[in-house]
This record gives sequence, C-alpha cells and structure tokens, in this order.
Amino acid sequence: MSDLKRAYNFNPGPGALPLEVLQQAQAELLDFKGTGMSVMEISHRSKEFEAVIQTAEADLRELLGIPSNYKIMFLQGGATLQFAMLAMNLRPAGASADYIVTGTWSKTAIKEAKKLGTARAAANTEADGFNCIPAKLDLDPKAAYLHFTSNETIHGVEFFTEPTPPDGVPLVCDTSSNFISRPIDVSKYAFLYAGAQKNAGPSGVTVVIARDDMIERTPENLPVMLDYKTLAASGSLHNTPPSFAIYMVGLVFQWAKKQGGLAAIEKTNRVKAGMVYDAIDQSGGFYRGHAKVDARSLMNIPFRLPSEELEDTFAKEAKKNNLIGLKGHRSVGGMRASVYNAVTIEGATALVDFMKEFQKKNG
Ligand SMILES: *Cc1c(COP(=O)(O)O)cnc(C)c1O
Repeated sequence: MSDLKRAYNFNPGPGALPLEVLQQAQAELLDFKGTGMSVMEISHRSKEFEAVIQTAEADLRELLGIPSNYKIMFLQGGATLQFAMLAMNLRPAGASADYIVTGTWSKTAIKEAKKLGTARAAANTEADGFNCIPAKLDLDPKAAYLHFTSNETIHGVEFFTEPTPPDGVPLVCDTSSNFISRPIDVSKYAFLYAGAQKNAGPSGVTVVIARDDMIERTPENLPVMLDYKTLAASGSLHNTPPSFAIYMVGLVFQWAKKQGGLAAIEKTNRVKAGMVYDAIDQSGGFYRGHAKVDARSLMNIPFRLPSEELEDTFAKEAKKNNLIGLKGHRSVGGMRASVYNAVTIEGATALVDFMKEFQKKNG
C-alpha cells in the first residue's frame, strides 16, 4: 500500500470520494459484518442491509438537520429522472410550475417539465452566458412549485441564499453538485434532490428529501417506480434498491460527520475554492473565471486561458502532474476544477502550484 498512487481528482462527476471511505469499503468488501458475503451479495431485506439504509438515513438527517416531517428516499434514474418525476408528482393536472434557469442543469429540468405540462421561467440568465444569479424573479403566485438549481455544475454558479417563493409556493431544489457541502436550512425547502455521484457517493443512487405534504400530492395511477407515495411508504424498498451505492453514500455521511459535520466541511471547502479563485484573480488576466464574483461556486470552478491551444497544453501537462479531470465542459470551454468535499487541501494546493508554474512558463 505504501506505493499507492492516487490522482488529484478534479472530475465533475462521478467525482472524488474520500480515501478513508474507499478503504473502508475495501476492508469490508469480502465479508460484510460477519456475513461472509459482500454488501452487494446480501438481501436488501436482510437485517444487515436494513441497518445500512436506516443508518444512512439517520446520519443524513443529523448532518443536514432534516425535520421529522420530511421523508428521505434513495432512488434510481439519476437527478435526470427527478426532472420528470417531480413534475409528475408535484404539479397537479392543469397547474404551472416556475423554474429559475441559471445554467445547463436548470435548463434541462424545465425542458423535461414542459414535456409533461406547463412550466415557465421565473428568470433566465442565458443571455449573460449563465454567469450569475438573477437579481429579479418574475414569480407566479399560483405556481405548483418554484424550482431552482442551487449549484450549476457546468457554469459554476451557486446560490448562497435561497430564492424566496411567493407565500404557499413550495421551493424545490436540484442540489446534486453542492449536496452536503455546507449547512442549509432544510425547512425553507419543500423538496430537494441530488444525484450522489457529484459530492456524496458513487453513481446509481439519487437522494430525495421530500416534505410530507409534497408526497401527498402524488396523483393516482402513476407507474409505481415514478410514485413518491409508494416509494416513500416502502422506505425505498419497494423493489431492489441500488444497495451498494446506498452503502457507499452511508459511508460518506459517516465520514462527513467525522470531519465535524457540514459547518466544518464548509470551512474546508471555502479554503479550497478560495485558493483556486485567488490564483485566478492574481494571474493578471491569464486565467479568467466564468462566473461573476458574487455567484462563484465553491464546488465547480470553470476558467479560461488566453487561447484554446494553451488550454489543451494546460490539460495535458496537468495530467502529467497527476492533476486529473480539469478539462471544462464543451459548452463553456476551457478548464473546470471541481473541488468537491473529498478533494483535499493538499490537492487544491497542488493545483494552484501547477497553475502558477504554468503561467510562469506560458504567460
Ligand atoms: C450531474 C447533474 C445532474 C444530472 O445527474 P444524473 O444523475 O447524471 O442524472 C443534474 N443536476 C445537476 C446539478 C448535476 O450536477
């Protein structure tokens, strides 16, 4: 193990997982809790797996401070299925839903919702290149809900205060890429969802947190795998759940608690992101961040270099230096550093040192 070579992993998703979590999964892989089987090989109705899913839920409740009138579900189909599923469950027939469109993911969410009914944009920052949080919202007081994406993974813009919906309009949030990255007041939300593979585990499981009255909205006769009421009532065990992925997110929740909880994690995340933004700001324009300063994500940091050629060279040389996953999304171009919870300060330091060295040679 001493010659173990781990990459500095800046992948946007699936992203980095804490080394301790991977090591625990490795240690338990062949014989989970004395069963003589891996957690992948045991029944999802066994007492051992029941303990896994219940502990994961309890730890998440503690981490995020989730009140008892909210259900937690571990579902499949990714955040992308939630785009359609939440519209099918939370928007009554004939009603309209509001969406704040701030990047690729919220744009995709409203597109899905429009296939199944009425949805309107309460704001759309596409004309600004999706680089900001909208200053003004045009809100429908009768909307079935107000949906927003708390962190746009591709454009690197993040909401640091929740939008305020009109009285009685539930707030719905795609928190896939900043889930458990800092404390939030869950009571401000009616419904939250997150694909695990950005910040909380492997792909294959999506965490859904739904206030009880949201689950009551589920209409009759939805196909069962699209029906929150059934899935919540079964404790996410209506059918075979993604048991290994649930086990892994459970380990990540335990790891997050060991770090001191979300306040401590936020502190580290601010240090890491701060280092990268400082390197951008102190580069005299060699590196240019995509997002406006007050909307800068703590998780995903897209930035450009003076030319596409230099961007290619940057990605190649970074890779040689064991810095992986820095190529940006094609829609924004350039580079993107994803500094999720599991990216260490050591990793962020290695990136920033490389950025400075690269500029010295190429600036
Ligand atoms: C990655 C991502 C999605 C899509 O997630 P899948 O699990 O791949 O469906 C949706 N929203 C946000 C904010 C994301 O980062």
